[in-house]
Amino acid sequence: MLSYLHAFHAGNFADVQKHAALTLALAMMQAKKTPIACFDTHAGSAVYDLTGERARKTAEADTGVQRLWRLRNSLSSPDWQPMLEVLASENPGNSELETYPGSPAWLAGFARDADTVTAFELHPTEGRQLAGWARDAGVRVVQQDGLKGLLQKLPPPQPRLLTLIDPSYEIKSDYTSVAETLTKAWKKCRHGVYLVWYPILTSGLQEQLVSALKGGEVRKVLRSEVMLDTPPERGMVGSGMLVVNPPWGFEQRFAAMMDELQGENGLGWSSSITWLVPE
Ligand code: SAM
Repeated sequence: MLSYLHAFHAGNFADVQKHAALTLALAMMQAKKTPIACFDTHAGSAVYDLTGERARKTAEADTGVQRLWRLRNSLSSPDWQPMLEVLASENPGNSELETYPGSPAWLAGFARDADTVTAFELHPTEGRQLAGWARDAGVRVVQQDGLKGLLQKLPPPQPRLLTLIDPSYEIKSDYTSVAETLTKAWKKCRHGVYLVWYPILTSGLQEQLVSALKGGEVRKVLRSEVMLDTPPERGMVGSGMLVVNPPWGFEQRFAAMMDELQGENGLGWSSSITWLVPE
């Protein structure tokens, strides 16, 4: 039984890191004309109402994307602009954001005609909402397990691949399942770009994923982490992204984006980027 609903967390600091990595990787891949197959293994419902009861209950966007939005005119990295333009078009004339796009909406917003977007979502209600949205967005929705579904679809017919793996980690075995699936997916499509999100928890559960990959076969794994300067005593104290086969130059450009949001004038985080597994 799945109980996680992303509407409680949409636009939080982790979404800012995750969606910045996703949109930068896709934009950099699009520097070449060849079509890209995009997969989103845990898609959520695609569009989130930041004024709704669920979002207001946690108010997580207040310390995430709303802060980014307030900083929009002083950000120096040009790589924030594509994201900010999407947010502006979704929120015309609003000084506070009211609508926040989820990962399939970010992918669909940047996909070119020849690129494809396939989104998996297992939760029945989220899946129905996603499917309703996807009809006009040109996104293929598959209501099945995203890890199994991804492996069934690889390798794609298109020459290039971008995959986001963003589970809710409700099941503790998700950490090892993600490492196993990523390894199998990489063996089916070694040149693919894979982005994997994980929470950084006081329990340290994420180490199961990180250490499995550190000692594993997948090469070229970049790790970005943002740690909250004022963390809660228990639970999520930071957010991590693994990027397998990042486009050339991604490391420096993404580091610049994360770094400029450090400290109390930014998103209240400290950022680091290192190679978990080199070439
Ligand atoms: N990727 C979304 C975004 O960035 O906007 C957020 C996704 S949320 C963290 C995780 C989603 O995965 C939830 O909507 C949950 O219902 C869904 N989910 C959980 N287990 C799944 C599975 N095995 N396969 C596909 N989706 C699953």
